[in-house]
Amino acid sequence: MEIEIKGASENNLKNIDVKFTDGLTVVTGISGSGKSSLIFNTLYHESNRRLIELFGYSRKWSSQRSSYKLSPAKVASITGLGPAVAVGQNLINRNPSSTLATASGLHPLLRLLYARFGVRKCPNCGADIIVLTQDEILNYLFGIVKEKPRVVYSQLVNNSLGSHKTLLKLLLEQFSLGDLFIDDKKWDGLQLNPNKQHKIFIKLAQIDSSTSFDDVRDIVLKSHLLGSNILQINTGKRVEKVSTVKSCVECGTWLKDIEPKYFHMVCPFCKRKGCKQCNNTGIHPFASSVFFSGLLITQLLTYSVKEALKLFEDTKILASTNRLLSEIIKRLTALKDVGLGYLTLNRSSPTLSRGESQRVRIALTLINQLEDVLHILDEPTIGQHVTNIIKFLPIFHKMPGPVIFVEHDRIAASVADNAIDLGPGAGSSGGSIIFQGSLSELWETDT
Ligand SMILES: [Zn+2]
Ligand SMILES: [Zn+2]
Repeated sequence: MEIEIKGASENNLKNIDVKFTDGLTVVTGISGSGKSSLIFNTLYHESNRRLIELFGYSRKWSSQRSSYKLSPAKVASITGLGPAVAVGQNLINRNPSSTLATASGLHPLLRLLYARFGVRKCPNCGADIIVLTQDEILNYLFGIVKEKPRVVYSQLVNNSLGSHKTLLKLLLEQFSLGDLFIDDKKWDGLQLNPNKQHKIFIKLAQIDSSTSFDDVRDIVLKSHLLGSNILQINTGKRVEKVSTVKSCVECGTWLKDIEPKYFHMVCPFCKRKGCKQCNNTGIHPFASSVFFSGLLITQLLTYSVKEALKLFEDTKILASTNRLLSEIIKRLTALKDVGLGYLTLNRSSPTLSRGESQRVRIALTLINQLEDVLHILDEPTIGQHVTNIIKFLPIFHKMPGPVIFVEHDRIAASVADNAIDLGPGAGSSGGSIIFQGSLSELWETDT
C-alpha cells in the first residue's frame, strides 16, 4: 500500500507532495510546523470523508445531521488511501470505575472464563466442583496424563444409606472384586451395613503417558454407561473429581448457572465493603466462591500483566477454553509488549500517567490489528523513557499496513523506516517539507 499526497495546502501547508509506504513513518517538526495539518486535517480527514461517502452516510444523514457531511481537505489529490485508524493522545479515560482490565477488554473475557470454566465451591459443604462436558473431560484427562500417571475411578454411590446389595451384585458381574472400593477401601466382599451411609467407587483404569486417546475415551464412556456423572482422578495423594452435571460431587447439592455478569457486580449486601455473604470479596455472592487456578476473580485482578500472562500460559488448557485463553493471552501479551507488564489488572484508568494510558491505547491498536489499515498515532512516545521507546517500537514493524507516528522529537525516528520533517518554523514560516526519505538519509542531512 502506497499513499501519495499531492498539493497539500491545508492551513499553513505550502502545496507539498508526500508519499507514505508500508512500514513505520515518523513525521516530526516543531509545534505549529504543519504536522497535524498534514496528518490529521488532510490524510486522516480525507480517509474518513471518503469512507462516509462510500457507505452513503452523508446522503442518508445529511438532512438530520449536517455534521456527517465533511468538506474535502485542501489537497490536489490523494491516491492509495484506504480506511485509517487514529490513536489520539488526549482521550484519557476519566471514568473512575474503569481499570486496566476493563479498558483493555480483558474483563469480559475473564468473566466468561470464570462463569464457564471456574471451579466452584459447594455452598453446602465447601467441596470443589468442576463441571465439564464429556468431551472436555476426555481432553482434560488426555492432557494431564502426559505429566503423571493417574488412577481413574467412577463414583457410583456417595454417602447414601443402605446395603446396596443389588448394585454390588451387578458390578461383580463386570468387574473384579479388587476394582471395587467401598468407603475408601478395597471391598472385602462382605455385606454392607444397611443402616450406614456408604461410598462406592469403581477403579476404571490406571493411565499414563502411553495410554492412547481411544483408550481414554473408552474409560470416560464406560463410566457414563455405568450411569455415573462423576469421575475421580487420583495422583498419589491428590484427589480430583470432575462432574458432567451441575451438582456437588460430595453432597449432591444442585448448583445454579452463574452468569458472567455476576463477576462484574458489586455485592448487594455490603456494597463492596466486604461481608459474610460475599466472603469479604465485595463482589456478588454468586461470584465470590468461583476460582480459577485457585484464585477468585478479585485476586486474579491484583496480578500484574506479567504475572497474569505467566499464569495463563501455564494453565492446563481444555480444548474448549483454547479460544478464550488465546484471546486473553493476546491482550496480556500486547500490554507487555508496549512495556506495561508491571501494571496490575485492577489499576484504575484515571491514575495512569499520560504515557501509560497512551500505551494502553497502542496495545489496543495492536490487539485489534486490522488488515491493510493506515494507523496514525499521535505522539505515542510521549512521557516515555528512551529505552522504553526503543523496546516497544519494533512491534509496529509487524503491523500489516502503513503506520504513521506524529512526533515532536526525533527519538522515535531512530527505529522508523521513513521520516518526514516539516518546518522550518511555525505558522506561516512552517508548512514546508524539510526532509523526506529513509532514516539513513535523514542522519546524513543532519551531519
Ligand atoms: Zn456439597
Ligand atoms: Zn458483601
